[in-house]
Amino acid sequence: MAEPVTRISTPMRLEYRFTPGRAASRFLRHVEQGELLGQRCPNCRKVYIPPRGACAACGVPTDEEVRVADKGTVTTFCVVNVPFYGQKIEIPYVSATILLDGADIGIFHLVQEVPAEDVHMGMRVEAVWHDERRPTLESISHFKPTGEPDAPFESYKDYV
Ligand SMILES: [Zn+2]
Repeated sequence: MAEPVTRISTPMRLEYRFTPGRAASRFLRHVEQGELLGQRCPNCRKVYIPPRGACAACGVPTDEEVRVADKGTVTTFCVVNVPFYGQKIEIPYVSATILLDGADIGIFHLVQEVPAEDVHMGMRVEAVWHDERRPTLESISHFKPTGEPDAPFESYKDYV
């Protein structure tokens, strides 16, 4: 009697359209220009990036646009050691939450050009942009250490 089939591999594909809306569209057009544009809440004064057009905490529109630096501080991070299907980056590599200077919410991105074991909370990093930019955060290849002294924990403790 034949062995039961317990596992199969099958190709899958999912196509979808993302409608970014006004705030994210403006953000992505600025990314194409190598700029990071956030929006400030008129009530709590927090700067969101990428902007969603409204403050999730206050429920009010965030119309004021503010430039956010393309460098910031690693607040939390993860060393990826597990290989997975479709992986494009050699392991180990680091995914980090980076609090950009001038923003009140972290973005998630890669930290490279430094051994994974040397990445730490408070590390100052800056964006490495691709020469050819498109309206996507993938226009930033990764972040790399700036060489500046670590940010004091007090400066980012509320964002961890
Ligand atoms: Zn608010």
